[in-house]
Amino acid sequence: MLLYNTLARKKEQFKPIKRGVVGLYTCGPTVYNYVHLGNLRTYLFEDVLQRVLEWDGYKVRRAMNITDVGHLTSDADEGDDKLEIGARREGKSPSEVAKFYASRFFADLAALNVIKPAMVLAATQTIPEQIEIIKLLGQKGFTYVSDKAIYFDTSKVPDYGKLSGQKLSEKKTGARAEIVQDADKRHPADFALWFFLKGRYRRHILHWPSPWGEGFPGWHIECSAISRKLLGQPFDIHTGGVDHIGTHHTNEIAQSESAYGKPLADYWMHGEFLTVDQGRMGKSAGNFITLADLEKRGIDPLAYRYFVLGAHYRSPLNFTWEAVEGAAQALKNTRRITALLKTSKDSGKNNRKVAASLHQSFSEAVNDDLNTPRALAVLWETVKSDSISSKTKLKLIMDFDKILGLNLKEVRKIARTPRNIVKLVQERELFRRNKQFVQSDSLRNKIKELGYSVDDTPLGPFVYKS
Ligand code: AMP
Ligand code: ZN
Repeated sequence: MLLYNTLARKKEQFKPIKRGVVGLYTCGPTVYNYVHLGNLRTYLFEDVLQRVLEWDGYKVRRAMNITDVGHLTSDADEGDDKLEIGARREGKSPSEVAKFYASRFFADLAALNVIKPAMVLAATQTIPEQIEIIKLLGQKGFTYVSDKAIYFDTSKVPDYGKLSGQKLSEKKTGARAEIVQDADKRHPADFALWFFLKGRYRRHILHWPSPWGEGFPGWHIECSAISRKLLGQPFDIHTGGVDHIGTHHTNEIAQSESAYGKPLADYWMHGEFLTVDQGRMGKSAGNFITLADLEKRGIDPLAYRYFVLGAHYRSPLNFTWEAVEGAAQALKNTRRITALLKTSKDSGKNNRKVAASLHQSFSEAVNDDLNTPRALAVLWETVKSDSISSKTKLKLIMDFDKILGLNLKEVRKIARTPRNIVKLVQERELFRRNKQFVQSDSLRNKIKELGYSVDDTPLGPFVYKS
């Protein structure tokens, strides 16, 4: 299996640390608001990754965190804690806010047929483990303390920028429009491991005792602690969106590798953004659309899954309603074809070589750095093939769906259609093929009056009770 490793800046052959098992870590959401379709694109890419690894016979040990403290509105350790903003907005406690949005998030994943990571821990559940790492970093001389926070000293790590390829001198996290709050921070790239209840954070609701007094952890340390607790160090694959390369993942690496003197993960994979009008879809950009917005328009969540599969995870994907509606139509066709195949009794010709080569093409596509657009093309090639029987087609499609995750096994057989309707459908099909659309439309109406609908699919007309 070839995977693009951000750390190596190229596709590499995947080799697990332990034979047959893959440790996979995914950065989870900050649960202060609904997740948007952009976030969900990243979770879909990670789901495909897990499914391909399983298709290849690996046992996947998947872990994810839930960020419920310490993620500030700016990556430069400034601004407010997002959970406390959510709590103020809704007149609830931060933990109530976290509980609500985490459960909405898992409901969205389920609607998208994303396999839930087997191991999930919230940041607030692992405070002692986070404190342990900070202590170790302190003992090894990687930290310094101001009166507001304990910072990680990035100047102590010569290869700090190895994931992004950015030099420390080029990193300008602090040079944004925000006011730099802590004059004692030595370098803009240095980041907080632990905040004290001082200044802006003196009334921070979430806080815990620590060897340095009451406070709360910075954002990045939770992932170092949770991945280590659940998967050990090093583990195989770490994933997230591309926005995590420069800061969050870079900082996770700096913390874990400095504390324990070994790599954090072998492969780093990043999903590109979902964009709107070519700009990133984001919570703070205010241009975000949720899965519930799609459902309000009558769009099946799995149509969004189909839409996402249509682009490679390392290419930006622009959201438009037309494109998602197009995907909804394609999904409908796929389901209808599946229903037709489940109903078909055809025992026509069946070229096993063709079937095997389709299976292989699909497998090669997904094993080539998760090339889902190519995999979808193989699905349609299979549907249209004249050389294999319906039974074989169905078997192939069901197999492909283990990765595509369109839930095609749920598609029911078609109820028997009365003879008079079948006759009308066949007559209409002849008109349609001859491009006599007036006649074919008039027959479609007649069929409709009799209580049936016809959809045209690449396999021919699909009839169902309306
Ligand atoms: P957050 O809740 O902001 O930590 O984001 C959760 C996940 O969604 C992270 O892996 C982000 O990288 C990812 N993400 C955020 N915005 C987008 C977007 N527009 N497109 C794709 N992924 C995104
Ligand atoms: Zn993380």
